[in-house]
Amino acid sequence: MALPAHSKFVIIGAGIHGLSTAWRLAERLGASGKGGGADIVILDKTGLAAGASGIACGVVRNNYFQPAMRKLMAHSVGVWESDAEALSYHPVGYMQISSESMRGDVGQIYAQQQAIGYESVLIEGEAASTDYMKAIFNDWRAQGITSVLHEKRGGYSNQTKTLYALADKVEKLGVRIISGVEVTGFKSENGSSAIAAVETDKGEISCEQIIIGCGPWARDFWKMLELPSQITVKDLKGDVHQGVDMWRFWQLEEGVLKVDPGMMMANDGNVPPVIHVDTDAPLKSTVDGSLITDEMWGIYYKPDWHFGGIQGGASPYKVTTPVNEVAIDPYGPSSPEFVSSPEFAHMWVSALAHCQSRFENMMPKYHREASGGIGCFTADSFPVFDHFHENVAVIADSNHGWKMIGVGHLIADEVLGEKQDLLEPFRFDRFEKGNLHPVSNSPYPWS
Ligand SMILES: Cc1cc2nc3c(=O)[nH]c(=O)nc-3n(C[C@H](O)[C@H](O)[C@H](O)COP(=O)(O)OP(=O)(O)OC[C@H]3O[C@@H](n4cnc5c(N)ncnc54)[C@H](O)[C@@H]3O)c2cc1C
Repeated sequence: MALPAHSKFVIIGAGIHGLSTAWRLAERLGASGKGGGADIVILDKTGLAAGASGIACGVVRNNYFQPAMRKLMAHSVGVWESDAEALSYHPVGYMQISSESMRGDVGQIYAQQQAIGYESVLIEGEAASTDYMKAIFNDWRAQGITSVLHEKRGGYSNQTKTLYALADKVEKLGVRIISGVEVTGFKSENGSSAIAAVETDKGEISCEQIIIGCGPWARDFWKMLELPSQITVKDLKGDVHQGVDMWRFWQLEEGVLKVDPGMMMANDGNVPPVIHVDTDAPLKSTVDGSLITDEMWGIYYKPDWHFGGIQGGASPYKVTTPVNEVAIDPYGPSSPEFVSSPEFAHMWVSALAHCQSRFENMMPKYHREASGGIGCFTADSFPVFDHFHENVAVIADSNHGWKMIGVGHLIADEVLGEKQDLLEPFRFDRFEKGNLHPVSNSPYPWS
């Protein structure tokens, strides 16, 4: 498709956020008789599903220690539920299963979920937690679990199916998705900081509003927008840190056990909730019984017919390459550098066996193809949703944002002039002002 010389709204990135923004914007513009999606183009240097959205595990949950994240997730779960079938969303629920060090945090999450009307059940104590899990899986055997938070909403979705469904939705509303166009910079209005045109390798597009949903490429767009690569951060104790890198990369480790997903059915014959375990119980190898770790570890898994097996992941690890030298392209499984490691496979399959005896001796079934990918995280690992240069909205989701399908809707409303309270805790100035999100005892950078 040829690049138009002008489009009122230019959305950069055909991932979950770009498409979700286009969906809401086109619906709203159409409703007000202003032409629906005809005023919107989405540009992507590769195409649909080329970024993190195309490889995400697809887990949708509310379980966050940060009140602002929980409120935002509750909104997003509502968007998933609004068209579950078309979005290929499976509302099977989600379980956070934890050892004692996380019990207090999980208790707080539960209390606040009740306060916002998000349906969940909390089981506490080792015997009660084991009984609860055995009622779901008769082969459950993880030791030292003292709390189970069972979210009745949430579940998972099938990334590429969801993205194709969203693309179909927006194209029916008149939005044009143009692949193979790389954005290279932005051109300001004379005498103002507002952006007048998007520069690409195929020419310029003049525009009135720009929305960037750039996933792991946040570092590069931040630079194109001439925003600071190092920032001042006031931490939760009030101490001020100068010269903190705005961005850092983590490798998200995921993989698949190539077995019949039906082997993970619950005792009642139904698809079980997504399972997430965080524990400090010693983890032993399912291959030779050796100790893998006696420190806190975490995994998540689900039966997934889209991935063709039991799919899941573990805590990510920090990429140590200096931030400006990290090669984001080629992305995901095509990267020569950033794919899930053999150590991950050994740990994850051993952890499955630690939790359920049905996974004993399954190491040979681990799918050896490259998987996983890097994420670009902010200084506090929570997203930045904000507006810059008068007319540029940035959705930098810090790469745990597949589930946040509702953010694009909220950004679309903001672009149309309606500030959204749910997005306020995610503005860029929180670092300088010290309005950071509270931090939990979870082994993940974002929970
Ligand atoms: C392995 C893995 C598993 C994950 N699992 C989950 C999960 O279970 N649940 C969850 O909530 N989150 C998960 N995430 C995080 C989630 O995938 C991301 O947060 C989310 O998909 C980001 O969406 P996005 O639309 O911002 O970016 P992306 O999907 O990355 O899309 C960005 C797009 O921008 C395009 N682009 C980049 N640069 C340019 C340019 N210069 N010009 C034009 N186009 C450009 C890219 O081609 C790409 O298509 C996971 C991430 C990874 C890596």
